Amino acid sequence: MTPAPTEPTVLTVPAFKDNYLWLIHDGVHAAAVDPGDAEPILAALQAHGLTLTAILLTHHHADHIGGVMRLLEHSNVPVFGPRNDGIATVGHPLGEGDRVKVPGLALELAVLDVPGHTKGHIAYVRQDPGAHWLFCGDTLFGAGCGRLFEGTPAQMAASLAKLAALPDDTLVYCAHEYTLSNLRFAEALEPDNRALQMRVANDSQLRGTHLPTIPSTIAIEKATNPFLRTREPAIVASLAAAGRLPSGADPVAVFAALREWKNVF
Ligand code: ZN
Ligand code: FE
Repeated sequence: MTPAPTEPTVLTVPAFKDNYLWLIHDGVHAAAVDPGDAEPILAALQAHGLTLTAILLTHHHADHIGGVMRLLEHSNVPVFGPRNDGIATVGHPLGEGDRVKVPGLALELAVLDVPGHTKGHIAYVRQDPGAHWLFCGDTLFGAGCGRLFEGTPAQMAASLAKLAALPDDTLVYCAHEYTLSNLRFAEALEPDNRALQMRVANDSQLRGTHLPTIPSTIAIEKATNPFLRTREPAIVASLAAAGRLPSGADPVAVFAALREWKNVF
């Protein structure tokens, strides 16, 4: 008997040292988001009795696309991805404003351009009533953000502002478990932030038992992620006290100073 499809859900597939690959599935069909490695995806598909029907990519880095060729050998499914990030396997190029009807699933995702980490990085958003999801690759992380490999601070700050404008209850499915390291930086900047203290306690407990801190939510990120809080006086003061910010700096300069400090923190 073939099982009936259920409401789409998201399965966490850990890979490498600290990556999360995501399988969106309905109990029958599955779409893989950023399959940097094929093996854990194939194992998860088999373990859950799922058939792969699509691949969704956010950007061109190997830890996000490395498994695509092998998955395609296994099943010849459509590959969706950014129009401007130089990924040869993308058959369905996407950019800001596009919508994806995910093959095999009763699911439509909207596409956002979020340049900064790479020049063509995109994000996928589910905007159904009561079900808000964000797949943001290496743009927004738990309490942090991606490094600026190809874009400018102004581009990344604008991309993060776009994500911060999503509904508070949007689940943030980012691609790495960097949260505790990011929280140590956030605490140094804002030692008196109560929401941050609560997140540190909560996420430390999760990691203590090897549970993911991801997904978080946009509400949690807005309350605790310093890269979304560049207008907070406490953060500006901490940067200034560390000699990392000229007085009267605008929020993009604050963002740039934060990103540079985190690189060496
Ligand atoms: Zn990356
Ligand atoms: Fe990555």
